[in-house]
Amino acid sequence: MNITEIPTEGYEKVVHATDSASGLNAVIAVHDTTLGAGLGGIRMLKYESDAACVTDALRLAEGMTYKAAIAETGQGGGKAVMNHDPAAKTEDLFLAMGDFIESLGGLYLAAEDMNMTVENLETVTQRTQYVTGRSLELGFSGNPSPMTAVGCFIGLQATARELFGNDSLAGRSIAIQGIGAVGSLLARACREAGATVAVSDIDPAKVEAFAEETGATALDGPDGALRHPCDFLSPCARGGILNPKSIPKLQCKAIGGAANNQLLTDEDGQRLAEQGILYAPDFVINAGGVINLSGEFQPGGYNADWARDRCTSIDRALTEIFEIARTESITTAQAAKQLALTRIAARRD
Ligand code: NAD
Repeated sequence: MNITEIPTEGYEKVVHATDSASGLNAVIAVHDTTLGAGLGGIRMLKYESDAACVTDALRLAEGMTYKAAIAETGQGGGKAVMNHDPAAKTEDLFLAMGDFIESLGGLYLAAEDMNMTVENLETVTQRTQYVTGRSLELGFSGNPSPMTAVGCFIGLQATARELFGNDSLAGRSIAIQGIGAVGSLLARACREAGATVAVSDIDPAKVEAFAEETGATALDGPDGALRHPCDFLSPCARGGILNPKSIPKLQCKAIGGAANNQLLTDEDGQRLAEQGILYAPDFVINAGGVINLSGEFQPGGYNADWARDRCTSIDRALTEIFEIARTESITTAQAAKQLALTRIAARRD
């Protein structure tokens, strides 16, 4: 395996691996380990170029640093990206990926991300000890999605308190984009709390079946939730959906959901603020998954009750972020990044 370091300002380590035997072409970016090892999932995706793959790894690793700092998980931020078509998975690729991760000696801690399955992660684990989020049956923290949904629910309650003066979701309306692993659980929790729920998804059959089963309102088109008049929009499908095109059409009072990188650019945070929409920054409200993973490092090992309890930190963090944004007249996304950087700087001192 050929491993080349890509010196990158602001990053502790960025490495590119190619391996002729397995065909592996992957990047690991470790952004900051001041608060602990750089934790982040392995993403498998075919990029247009190696440069595009590196750019994505850098952006995602930086986001993980802020997410972990705000959730106070005791970890830093990192990300691994395998530049491969997920339709062409082989065992050798994942074994080589394990060797690549092991070569960093624990600076990077892996987990599951886009297009990776539990089985793929188990194969990676044959070659490296630096893997989190393995199955519950084996004593690890398992699928993070239920805890991400718990965290999003808690975050919506904190957002409701900022907006309406109390954190009850009863009688509130919530439009969810993406009823996958997180969105479907969040939708059910909101229904149980007495909210009215409307859902949209790229898969219309899924929307119909979900609406039929739960009594949620089915919305047309993948972006139906973005146009739906509601108290809360909850993006739980994909990133970049808050942009100059979509923001003027939004009819919500606040936004809080699981999808990563919801703002296309930083300016979109400003656009939301100008439109009077309260934004719960994605990397704060969707931290339930990393909180769940951090449970593996607690004395006595992973415990779901501990993780659920720790998700209440999302409430405290959002409350603090909303206050910083209000008092300093900055966007909530800026306030969240500022809070994360303050925590990292405090540890460095
Ligand atoms: P998932 O794949 O289970 O669900 C995504 C859902 O969105 C699917 O139902 C899919 O059909 C739908 N979808 C995909 N593209 C769409 C589009 N263009 N328009 C509308 N709907 C679309 O994923 P998930 O695990 O529920 O995660 C949802 C989002 O939250 C992802 O962006 C993920 O990266 C992020 N996230 C997830 C976790 C977690 O623990 N699962 C943690 C943090 C962040």
